[in-house]
Amino acid sequence: MNRSGRKRLALLVVAGLFLFTACGGGPPAQTGDSLNVLATTSIVADVVAQVGGDFVTLTVLLPAGTDPHAFSPQPQDAAALADADIIFANGAGLEAFLPPLLESAGADGKLVEVSAGIELQPLPGGDASTGDPHTWMDPNNVIVWTQNIAAALSSADPAHAADYQANAAAYAASLRALDAWIRAQVEQVPPANRLLVSDHAVLGYFAARYGFTQAGSITGSFSSEAAPSAQELAALEDKIRADGVRAIFVTEASNQSLADQVARDTGIQAVWLYHASLTEAGGPVPTYLDFMRYNVNAIVNALK
Ligand SMILES: [Zn+2]
Repeated sequence: MNRSGRKRLALLVVAGLFLFTACGGGPPAQTGDSLNVLATTSIVADVVAQVGGDFVTLTVLLPAGTDPHAFSPQPQDAAALADADIIFANGAGLEAFLPPLLESAGADGKLVEVSAGIELQPLPGGDASTGDPHTWMDPNNVIVWTQNIAAALSSADPAHAADYQANAAAYAASLRALDAWIRAQVEQVPPANRLLVSDHAVLGYFAARYGFTQAGSITGSFSSEAAPSAQELAALEDKIRADGVRAIFVTEASNQSLADQVARDTGIQAVWLYHASLTEAGGPVPTYLDFMRYNVNAIVNALK
């Protein structure tokens, strides 16, 4: 497995040297004092980095571009969990691989689910026993993440609680600005065009917040792992034609041949969205804010 997606941010050395200079005496802070935190996805990791700042050393479990629905951990992943002081996961059922991995690492007590407290949406017409795990598709939910992350870091490292709270407040302001920008962008899409069809049911929170309808998906599920029957696929294509759906949104979690077939059969365009991963630094969406701006521009341009 390519582990190049792992990032380690070890900035406490710099912070310690600054402290040494500023105080004019005493030893610099030990890097061993830094919280060693692990995040499952790169999106969770970006928000943890925003809140933790220089006081955390951060490891990302899933390499960039990985579909978390289909992730298979390797033995070294259990070691990474065992080494962490705190394990930040999206939660809400996204990381199906995590419970057995936590058990094998003896790390159950370290888990913090950043989506805790968010009311999960059910799949339209689907099984109500599972909620939609894609909470980050509404930046207002990510404000809840920042609060959960700040609380967990403050509890583990009370000496820097004020820093974590200040970082969380500053990032929440950026998320509110993002929300306002999205509201302005989606005004370009006529109400009749606000129908979202995607490879799997990834856009429920976006739809609910910004006045769209999640009209259907290829897998008919929150997971990219389900496989539709021929009848289900035909019914989706009928709905696309009947409702005048203008695009199908596809992600790294797509069964690309099925998505291409639906687009070809119905004569609509297939439009790429980022789903559950950022890109590496230097790529198109290295941060969550970039990720949302990219996706909103893609949706608005396809449907306006
Ligand atoms: Zn997904």
